[in-house]
Parts: sequence; structure tokens; C-alpha cells
Amino acid sequence: MSVETMDIEKIVNIVLEKINTEGYYEERKSSNNGVFSDMNMAIEAAYRAQKIFFEDYSLEDRSRIIQAMREDLMENVEILAKLGVNDTGMGRYEDKLVKNKLTIEKTPGVEDLKAEIYSGDLGLALIEFSPYGVIGAITPSTNPSETVICNSIGMIAAGNSVVFSPHPGAKNISMKTIGIINNSIKRAGGPENLVVTVDDPSIENAQKMMSHEKVKMIVATGGPGVVKSAMSKGKKAIGAGAGNPPALVDETADIEKAAKDIIDGCSFDNNLPCIAEKEVIVVESVADYLIFSMKKENVYYLDNKKDIDNLVNIVFDKQGNLNRKYVGKDAKFILNSAGIKCDEDVRVVIMEVERNHPFVLEELMMPILPIVRVKDIGEGINLAVSVEQGNRHTAVMHSKNIDNLTRFARKVETTIFVKNAPSFAGIGYGGEGYATFTIAGPTGEGLTSARSFARKRKCSLVGGFSIK
Ligand code: NAD
Repeated sequence: MSVETMDIEKIVNIVLEKINTEGYYEERKSSNNGVFSDMNMAIEAAYRAQKIFFEDYSLEDRSRIIQAMREDLMENVEILAKLGVNDTGMGRYEDKLVKNKLTIEKTPGVEDLKAEIYSGDLGLALIEFSPYGVIGAITPSTNPSETVICNSIGMIAAGNSVVFSPHPGAKNISMKTIGIINNSIKRAGGPENLVVTVDDPSIENAQKMMSHEKVKMIVATGGPGVVKSAMSKGKKAIGAGAGNPPALVDETADIEKAAKDIIDGCSFDNNLPCIAEKEVIVVESVADYLIFSMKKENVYYLDNKKDIDNLVNIVFDKQGNLNRKYVGKDAKFILNSAGIKCDEDVRVVIMEVERNHPFVLEELMMPILPIVRVKDIGEGINLAVSVEQGNRHTAVMHSKNIDNLTRFARKVETTIFVKNAPSFAGIGYGGEGYATFTIAGPTGEGLTSARSFARKRKCSLVGGFSIK
């Protein structure tokens, strides 16, 4: 062996040993475009990536990376919408297309991080949005790619890396989205493993992730169980939990428009969005006209107790739990399963029920819309507040009476209050403002964006820089 060869071999061994001790080698072996076989390894990789990202990359670099993500995601948006439906067996392709496009286009980036500035005789103080570090994000089956997209854009914009723990029932679509994002980061010259996950998403892995000391913030988007668990970990947690949005209609509303808007919102992606109208409360004097107007919107009106009971019997199991088989399914499939024949293009099943009916009180996430009559707006507001159940999530109202709108908005205390429009206007589709699919009611961040995923830090410069 020549001296040169020996030297090269020695150097290679030293480098390999170094790489191995620091975890890089194992990491490279086990990572496939951000997807790891082990949760601890995924977190360690994301930890290293974030350090490099924060120390060596500028805000301009972050913007370029996010722009690349938007371009590549948009190029693949039809694939994402199709896979979203196929993988989860829920929702509608056309609506998933809308939801994904909305998220890609309207999730805020770096521009969301506006500093607070104080200046005066004593100098200058800055309060800046700084990264948390590694964020652990748990995502739902109902908006799988949309949540990965809006979380990734916001979290990266704020200088973090993210470890995703997707719903096991949305594994393929979540991995696909994470894969596209990783390719974009690479293409834009960003560090590897800024966005990672494991190839075996499960509740156990999500728990491991939430408890890991290097995960500095948890963002849980899902039902009450996961939000409660995230909030119990003793670290910063953002909880985006369940909703049961009521749509309240008073006698001053444009009833035909209200009927159309409510059916548009309720049928969107087969009612999967947490913001979608889940029950209607209408004052007696306009109830018949509202139902008459809804019937023009391709709905199926169930007008007898037997059919409604048949529907209840398939939507809930014997213990009264929601039957997941019907979540996000087409109205026709649900009706046929209950032995009711209908046309192909039925968008929503509507029926009148009593106020304590399970369809009113449970978050169904199906195109089933119960309608409850009340004698006046006072009774309507009280009922709507009680069926929202303190989720502080979303409420919709159709009215032209400002006093009524104000009364309901103040009483219901929801994060999103939509007036005279379908619920999706509240997340920027046909309404002003940015988009997100992580709406944090329980922990109060509201419609999350980059700044929600940052911590405030202060810099104080005494004795200068005030030019007032
Ligand atoms: P889900 O609660 O079944 O699952 C959500 C995520 O949490 C999944 O990744 C799941 O694996 C994980 N998870 C569940 N229990 C867990 C536990 N004990 N420990 C760790 N991880 C756990 O919800 P889903 O069916 O996927 O989504 C629908 C629910 O999410 C609805 O209640 C809906 O309102 C809510 N949601 C809320 C928002 C929001 O922004 N507020 C957005 C989408 C969905």
C-alpha cells in the first residue's frame, strides 16, 4: 500500500468515525427524503438541521425555500388531491384541490414576522419573533396534506425544523407531501431534514415525539384526545381541536343566499373541515322558506322519523360512538347504506330534528345537516352557544341585523365568526385574510401562521438610535 493510499484510507476512516459519532452516517442510511425508520433519529436529524438553518441561512434564503415549496406543491396539487381521497377514503377530489391550492397560495411566509419596536430617550428596544427550534406537529386525517403544507410553511418561515406525526390513516398522502417539500428545500439549497417524519406513524410514535426533550413546541391538530395530551406535556403546546359549528339564521337574513351558503359550506369536502357547518338553527318565521330554498341546492330532505332513525343507526355504533366508516363519505353512499335510494349528485342530507338530537350534538364530519327551529333570535343564540359546546371554534350567522350579529358573536366566543357567507370564507376562501388548517381555539393562537410558531425575544439597546 502506497503512502498516498494509506493517507486517503486514514482520512476516510477519521471522517467516517466523526460522521458516525455525530449521528450523520446512521441518519443518512435510515432517512429517505425526510422519512426515518426511528422517531429519535428523526428528531436528532431535525435538531441538527434547525441549528444549521438558523445560524447559516438568511431570511431571504427562507423565503426562497418557501417559494420553491409553493411551486413544487402547486405542480403536484392534482396528485395530492387525488391521493388525499384515495389514501383516507374520505372527502371529494374537487374540494381537496381547492383546499390544497388555498393553503399553498395563502399561507403566510416570512413577512408574517413583524418586529415590535420601542424607541425613546433611553434608546431602542426590539421584540422579535425567534424560532422555537424543533417543533413536533401532529396532523389529522381530515385535511392531511393541507395541514402538513400550512404547518411546514409557517414553521420554516419562523426558522424552525419540524417533525411530523401524521394520522396513520393518512400515511401515504402525508409522506408524499413531506417528500415534495424535502425536494423543494433541496432544490432551493436548504439543509436536509428540515421537515421529517417516521415511516410508521402511530399514537406511540406521536407520544414519543411529544415527550422528547429536543422538541420544544408541540402543535396538535385533531380531536379532543390529542389536544389534551399535547397540553399535558409540560412544554409549549398549540392545540387546534374539535368544533361543532352552528349556522344561525334570523328573520332578517337573505334566506335564499343563506340556504345556498350553508349547503356550500356544509358539503365542502363532504363536511370534513372542522370549520364546516354542522347544524342549522333557524327562527320559526323563516324556517319553512329556508328549507324550501335548501331543497333547490341538490339536497335530500328526510321527512320521516323512520328514515332519520335508520340514518342514526348507521352513523353511530351500538355504544353511541361515531362510525368512522361514514366520516367524509358522499351523501349518496351514506343514504344508500341506510337503505334510502337517491340521485347520484345529492350534496347533503337535511332533516328537521329536536334540539337534543345526536346529529346536533355530535361532530359528525359527514354531509348530514340537522335543522332546529327556535321561536326567536334570543332562543336561537342560546341554543347555538350551547351546541357549540365551548369549543371556541367556529360559528356562522346569516342576518342583516347588526345587533343580533354582535350579540351572537360576543356570546359564542368562537375563534372564527362568519357573517353571511359559507364557513370557508373564514379561512380565506371567498373571504379576506390568510389561510390555515390549524385553528387553535383551546390555546388561543387562533388562525395560526409563522408568528404562532415563534417565541418573542427582546433586544435592548440603551443610549442611542432614537431619532424622534
Ligand atoms: P384524531 O383526533 O383522530 O387524530 C388527529 C391526530 O392525533 C392523528 O395524527 C392521530 O394519530 C393523533 N392522535 C390521536 N390521539 C392521540 C393520542 N392520544 N396521542 C398522540 N396522538 C394522538 O382526528 P382526525 O379524525 O384525524 O381529525 C378530525 C378531528 O380533528 C375533528 O375533531 C376536527 O374537528 C379536528 N380538527 C381540528 C382542526 C383545527 O384546526 N382546530 C383542524 C382539523 C381537524
